[in-house]
Amino acid sequence: MPLTALRPARWSWRTLLPWAVGLLPLLGGMAVMRWQAERELLEQSQAAAIQVLRQSELILDQLSRSAQALLPLAGQPCEVASLPLRAEVTRNAFVRSTVLFNHDRVYCTSLLGGYDEAVDLNDYTEGTLWLMNGNSVTPGHPLLVYRLGSAGRGVLVTVDSEHVLTFLRLSDPGLPVQIRVGEHWIGAEGQVRNGSPPSAIKAPVRMASTRFPLSVQAGFREDRTLAYMLGHYPALFGLLVMLGLLAGGVCRWQIRRATSPRAEIERALQANEFVAYLQPVVRRGDYKWSGVEVLMRWQHPKDGLVRPDLFIPYAEHSGQIVPMTRALMAHTAHSLAPFAPLLDDHFHIAFNITADHCRDLSLLDDCARFLAQFPPGRVALTLELTERKLIEPSPTTLELFDKLHDMGVMIALDDFGTGQSSLNYLRQFRIDYLKIDQSFVAMIGGDALSLHILESIIELCGKLGLGIVAEGVETAEQRDYLDRYTVDYQQGYLFARPMPVADFLKSLAARPSTPALSKAPPPEIIPD
Ligand code: C2E
Ligand code: CA
Ligand code: CA
Repeated sequence: MPLTALRPARWSWRTLLPWAVGLLPLLGGMAVMRWQAERELLEQSQAAAIQVLRQSELILDQLSRSAQALLPLAGQPCEVASLPLRAEVTRNAFVRSTVLFNHDRVYCTSLLGGYDEAVDLNDYTEGTLWLMNGNSVTPGHPLLVYRLGSAGRGVLVTVDSEHVLTFLRLSDPGLPVQIRVGEHWIGAEGQVRNGSPPSAIKAPVRMASTRFPLSVQAGFREDRTLAYMLGHYPALFGLLVMLGLLAGGVCRWQIRRATSPRAEIERALQANEFVAYLQPVVRRGDYKWSGVEVLMRWQHPKDGLVRPDLFIPYAEHSGQIVPMTRALMAHTAHSLAPFAPLLDDHFHIAFNITADHCRDLSLLDDCARFLAQFPPGRVALTLELTERKLIEPSPTTLELFDKLHDMGVMIALDDFGTGQSSLNYLRQFRIDYLKIDQSFVAMIGGDALSLHILESIIELCGKLGLGIVAEGVETAEQRDYLDRYTVDYQQGYLFARPMPVADFLKSLAARPSTPALSKAPPPEIIPD
């Protein structure tokens, strides 16, 4: 029901709010899910770090025990020591080689027997552990060397890094774990590197051994969180999407309901925004104001004064026209009744009534209430019926019209000649007046055929004994023509335009008792 020519904004709050409401549970739920996923990933990282640390300590304990057992051999000739060195390699699953050194030089190994190579204490973190990238026997193959001894004499026990790497590789690839010994570290890819291990972007966890100079670092990558959420809570994810759609849908429905034409009319009715404009009807001869037609206007808070053809058709369609007409009758009576002395006896007040209002007898009460506000005989109430919605001649409607006549209420047939059933109405209901539609009045001064039609209508009214009101009189030529054809009443811009009740009362009070016809029509009041 557009009330203005302006198109509604495409991105108004009405279109954006449902999206926002729909996204709210989705984003809120995702935030909670993300928090939960990060907590679980952190726990998993901690568990992985603890696991790797425990296994590393387990292996180092074995190396430590082997080193303790071999320490008394340090300094003894290689011929004596090489057999026990080899025996230790065989006995201990984790030990890959055993080496004796003296005066900070290796002099006997389990693999080669006598050997000579310098031992640099600086390679060993806290003099105990060295994570190296391979030795002369297996270059590029990482080893972990445990050193035990003092005063340049002692034992070196090595373990193949594969034993440790197995645990690193067992953990989730999205949860990287690294082992660090001093300046060296190794990850699941099996390469010893220098410097600090790259800390995992999210929640880095670091666990240091209390017995060995070794620590384990774990964590999870940023992109792991979303993958984890999708992989672990698919049902919850689906539920959130459904909740979002539902919330957005309900919001959209509520907005549409609240801003629907029906709701808008209901609101306007409660706010008394439907106001009466009165257009005088003049009688033949002296053109004195002998009545008014009450025309509805919508005093809209934003769109200003709205013409009836922009909202009456919708109100008729939605059935809201009945309470609107009822309110219009009440307001008109309320504002005119105090000025009843200004009105001549039998001053005609006409309301436009739709078929819906004639379905039951409530119209009788509305009319009785209206008339009760004026002194008896002061006003003559007329109801104008149109053919926009057909009135079915049921027992109720026939009773209604009979009782209306009994009350002195008159019935006028509006826009006569424009619809299909004007003549049917004349047969079925007791009609008092015909209102000749302005399209026929506009024919005056036109071709002969049009004038014949108009004259026939006037003649028909005379034969049926009906009163005639001609609408839309705009020129003196039309006025004089209708006068010649003894049309009882005239209405149109030539005499007066529809005006607010206050203006009507002011004009009425200012008019002489037998007023002369105002030559120029009063200024337009309605801002179209
Ligand atoms: P209508 O009942 O035929 O009312 C006469 C219409 O002609 C009014 O338009 C009036 O302003 C206009 N009019 C009067 N004199 C002249 C003239 O000399 N020249 C021209 N060109 N027009 C003239 P308005 O007020 O815009 O009303 C339009 C229609 O809306 C009415 O036609 C009526 O069918 C409907 N309407 C108005 N108020 C109500 C109401 O309270 N209830 C119902 N159901 N319908 C209403
Ligand atoms: Ca009318
Ligand atoms: Ca009309």
